[in-house]
Amino acid sequence: MIDIKQIHKKFGDTHVLKGIDLSVKKGEVVVIIGPSGSGKSTFLRCINYLEKPDSGVINIDDITIDAANPSKKDINNLRKSTAMVFQNYNLFKNKTALENITESLIVNKGMSKEDADALGADILNQVGLSDKMGNYPSTLSGGQQQRVGIARAMALNPKVILFDEPTSALDPELVGEVLNVIRNLAQKDMTMIIVTHEMGFAKEVANRVIFMDNGNIIEEGSPDEIFNNPKHERTKRFLKQII
Ligand code: ATP
Ligand code: MG
Repeated sequence: MIDIKQIHKKFGDTHVLKGIDLSVKKGEVVVIIGPSGSGKSTFLRCINYLEKPDSGVINIDDITIDAANPSKKDINNLRKSTAMVFQNYNLFKNKTALENITESLIVNKGMSKEDADALGADILNQVGLSDKMGNYPSTLSGGQQQRVGIARAMALNPKVILFDEPTSALDPELVGEVLNVIRNLAQKDMTMIIVTHEMGFAKEVANRVIFMDNGNIIEEGSPDEIFNNPKHERTKRFLKQII
């Protein structure tokens, strides 16, 4: 469903992505792990076109995009097909939980306020926040804010949700509620690419684990292959450091 080929990205002289290839099937959950600075966030941002790749090709279903020379229509299509969940939630502070979800449905998707409110309420209910619809982000816990962030991504009905360390800003006792929401999405066959440092969660939820280092994919395989039998020295070294 998603087929990404040879993505390169430089910031000045720093070659951050050195030809990344990734194919993801519908309903698959791919977890990306790797050291700080290896290019994980940059890669996710390139998929969603928050960063412009220097070269490469991105296919999502029937859309094929020359990443270096996309048309406006290509970029719009790509943004419609992908939704991003950020480490720091990126919620609108002056909007309620419900408004955070309905804003883009009304403004970008042309939905009526009534329909957007109904959909927003349904999705907030799915993430366990039906009693917080009228709350502003400052009155929500980190875990609740992140669940609003995920609900916002779900409401856009994307083909894939991209998560960039969705739990790393959370106090440990709030991590579980966010992982639960992601776990439910996996059970519903949502296609997801997740960058995380939560190795236990990665083991449990991933269909495939990718280890990135220094702008390259070094190794990929099932959670069992990567966590229990890593082949590459660099993967072994990384896992030793963090587990
Ligand atoms: P972390 O685990 O710490 O989040 P990461 O794997 O997500 O790391 P990236 O954020 O993708 O790493 O960064 C990869 C490299 O690209 C780093 O060397 C970083 O300094 C550099 N970089 C990222 N964004 C920019 C930018 N906008 N301008 C210049 N350099 C950047
Ligand atoms: Mg990052």
